Amino acid sequence: MSATHLVILAVALLVDFASAGVPLPRYEALLKEQSAPSDPSLGLYDDGDKVVRLTVNNFNSTVVDQNRGALVEFYNTYCGHCRRFAPTYKAVAEHLLPWSEVLIVAAIDCAAEENNGVCRNYEVMGYPTLRYLGPGFQPGPQHYGQSLQTQDINEIREILAGMVAAENLTSSHNNSYWPNFHSLTENDSASSLFEGLSSVTQYVAVVHEPENTTVGVELALFMTQWPTVSVRRVIDPAVAAKFKINTSNLPLSLVDRKGEITAYAPESTNGESYAKKLSEVLGKKNITPRPVKVHQPSATPATKITGQNELIDEVHRNKHFVYQADLEQAIRTVLHNEVSKVGEISGEKLLALQRFLAVLQRYNPLGANGHQLVSKLKDFVVQFNDQVSGRQFEEELKRLEAHLSPVYSSTHFVGCAGSSPRLRGFSCSLWTLFHFMTVQAANNEESQDPLEVLQAMHGYIKNFFGCTECSEHFQAMASRRKIWSVPNKEEAVLWLWAAHNEVNQRLAGDATEDPEFPKKQFPAPDSCSECYRTPGSKSENLEIEWNKDAVLGFLKNIHNPQFISRYGVQREELLHPTADKMRQKRQISSVFTDMDMRMGMLLYAFCIVMMVLAFKLFAFKGYRKKPYGHDLLGKV
Ligand SMILES: Cc1cc2nc3c(=O)[nH]c(=O)nc-3n(C[C@H](O)[C@H](O)[C@H](O)COP(=O)(O)OP(=O)(O)OC[C@H]3O[C@@H](n4cnc5c(N)ncnc54)[C@H](O)[C@@H]3O)c2cc1C
Repeated sequence: MSATHLVILAVALLVDFASAGVPLPRYEALLKEQSAPSDPSLGLYDDGDKVVRLTVNNFNSTVVDQNRGALVEFYNTYCGHCRRFAPTYKAVAEHLLPWSEVLIVAAIDCAAEENNGVCRNYEVMGYPTLRYLGPGFQPGPQHYGQSLQTQDINEIREILAGMVAAENLTSSHNNSYWPNFHSLTENDSASSLFEGLSSVTQYVAVVHEPENTTVGVELALFMTQWPTVSVRRVIDPAVAAKFKINTSNLPLSLVDRKGEITAYAPESTNGESYAKKLSEVLGKKNITPRPVKVHQPSATPATKITGQNELIDEVHRNKHFVYQADLEQAIRTVLHNEVSKVGEISGEKLLALQRFLAVLQRYNPLGANGHQLVSKLKDFVVQFNDQVSGRQFEEELKRLEAHLSPVYSSTHFVGCAGSSPRLRGFSCSLWTLFHFMTVQAANNEESQDPLEVLQAMHGYIKNFFGCTECSEHFQAMASRRKIWSVPNKEEAVLWLWAAHNEVNQRLAGDATEDPEFPKKQFPAPDSCSECYRTPGSKSENLEIEWNKDAVLGFLKNIHNPQFISRYGVQREELLHPTADKMRQKRQISSVFTDMDMRMGMLLYAFCIVMMVLAFKLFAFKGYRKKPYGHDLLGKV
């Protein structure tokens, strides 16, 4: 360690002591204005989208026992796959908007804690999950709606058309917009087509629907906004011919009340193209559709997050800081949003939860109340041999939190806050928590099991992590990287670091990436140049020649509880007091080793002693000189 390092350290410590307890006014303002993490307005869809946003408050009144059907997406804001699918789902909602009197396209964010009960009751096992809830739908055991196993927009449309056409509407769910899906038979004729129709209906469109297609159903659904037109399907080519339909080039015809029939050739064979053709024809006759009614329940307007720039600046300034706020958010989200959402926790899931809580109890970054909470929760879960429900877990969690309140010192992400509320967040904090725990385990002399944290992590990710795709990737990577053969606790720290870097590499440039925080190999050269065998290497590929000893030292430093940043913490008094001294000084930890820090402390103490001595020497100089001078010069 150079003398310059020691001077920087001493100055930094002085500044730290001087600023201890000074509030962060601008951040306080940010916290006041930021919405809570479970705020449904932070979901993946907003006012500009045609997706109907569901929450626990409007779910039943919007999609249960209605006279129209609903396509419901159960998603998690923090699931990368859900984020990637969101543009497609928005397009589905836009595309099927003309069907909205018969079927709406809706979504519920299962990452919002308030929606736990709904997502649990519907036994959502992976994200995103698409379910069709028909008119009159009532949830019940084994009755959670019909699953759609595709994420392709055309397939979604076709499957839904089939499901809607198969509905047998009861009289109590009478819907005047519901098309007549019965296909025409040889008994039908141009004049009989209008029987039973209201006088508003001026035309009947007859459409040939080849076997195993849904083009006629789709056309009927696209035309529900045209009260003057009724659509009828015809499957038998012989019957179709009665309506001037030529199945090869004129599959569509329009019949008026006088019995006149005109056939048409749409551009392509799909319901939307047929609807386009009909609307052109009707437009020429000055017939227009009803405006489409959007069934958007009133929703909380998306909360504007002010002060976000300061937060991002702080994180950019201190790239490799680990923040207390993120560790807490990870734990809170795990307990409230992930474990609580599972219907039944039994078998492997129960074991995984017990293991996770045991490890969290040992390496818990929360304050004293948080320690009690985790340890009591672990005791609660351990008493169940067979199963515990997510609901029981949630009730116990809330009871304990109320009893031990306050438990958390912060309420928002800091290092994991994204440049938009939809980016980063929980998955970032979950990585951070597991890195933190592997380091604490490595520093714990009592722990003999090199796999304790990795095994707990593996079980958690497999059984509870709400990002289904991430979980599958992680499990595959774990077996490829031989997780169960990690020989010691330090290698466990490095195993997780390398695995995380592999994920960073795979996701670099992905649609889920926050442009403010591009995915890079960690640590960056400017955070730890000694971690690179080639100094200053800026290479982003996995071929980097790492100095693993330096990486290990670096990871141990940044996850040292003494150096966890408390920026953004609102209730510092809840945390361990000894960690107070060194907060927000992570730059130093990247430059100095543990030994350096101890030497610095010694030097600091030494300086203070020297200053006191010097002061004594000068302050009492005259007092001591006088008698001495008197003896020598004999003046007094
Ligand atoms: C187990 C797991 C698997 C995942 N798999 C997928 C997936 O398959 N597809 C997908 O889209 N998303 C996946 N995610 C989410 C994804 O990895 C990120 O968490 C998410 O995109 C947010 O990224 P971020 O930029 O906030 O940084 P993150 O990658 O989440 O990193 C969080 C913080 O950890 C630190 N860090 C970064 N790299 C390392 C490292 N190597 N060692 C130590 N610390 C590091 C940095 O300070 C960073 O800010 C997964 C998440 C987890 C927890």
